[in-house]
Amino acid sequence: MDQKVAALLNQQINKEFYSAYLYLDFANYYAAAGLDGFENWYKVQAQEERDHAMLFYQYLQNNGEKVTFEAIDKPDKELADNMAPLKAALEHEKYVTSLINEIYAAAFEVKDFRTMQLLDWFVKEQGEEEKNASDLVTKMELFGSDAKGLYMLNSELGARVYSAPSLTL
Ligand code: MG
Repeated sequence: MDQKVAALLNQQINKEFYSAYLYLDFANYYAAAGLDGFENWYKVQAQEERDHAMLFYQYLQNNGEKVTFEAIDKPDKELADNMAPLKAALEHEKYVTSLINEIYAAAFEVKDFRTMQLLDWFVKEQGEEEKNASDLVTKMELFGSDAKGLYMLNSELGARVYSAPSLTL
């Protein structure tokens, strides 16, 4: 495998684990705020991010590439109110999309079609992640300032259940 592509994929393992850590921090914030549905939403999200990390890990392993684990950054987003994690999540997902695109561009440059095919799933996934994050911000803007609305939204997010990623390696 091209060493630049391999290095970017290795870095993405770390970025996905950071995403999991960040979303666990959001779950932790909502637990303290008494919003157990929001907490559940981000716990499930954290689980998905760990899955993403493991997919990149397994892909490198399957292709005979050495994996190196780096330190995971401390979650450092300012969580001033119940809206803050939602907006921070949307910004973060846009950032992750840019990372996936960067790896894709590197793979494209060296005609690494296998990696491009792996990344096709992640390109689509990022579209869904950004939409989910954006929808949550919109719902919070619409309903979050009213106690009953917030209660309903909390119930809705509490119903989210984890399911394994559709991509298998
Ligand atoms: Mg991810």
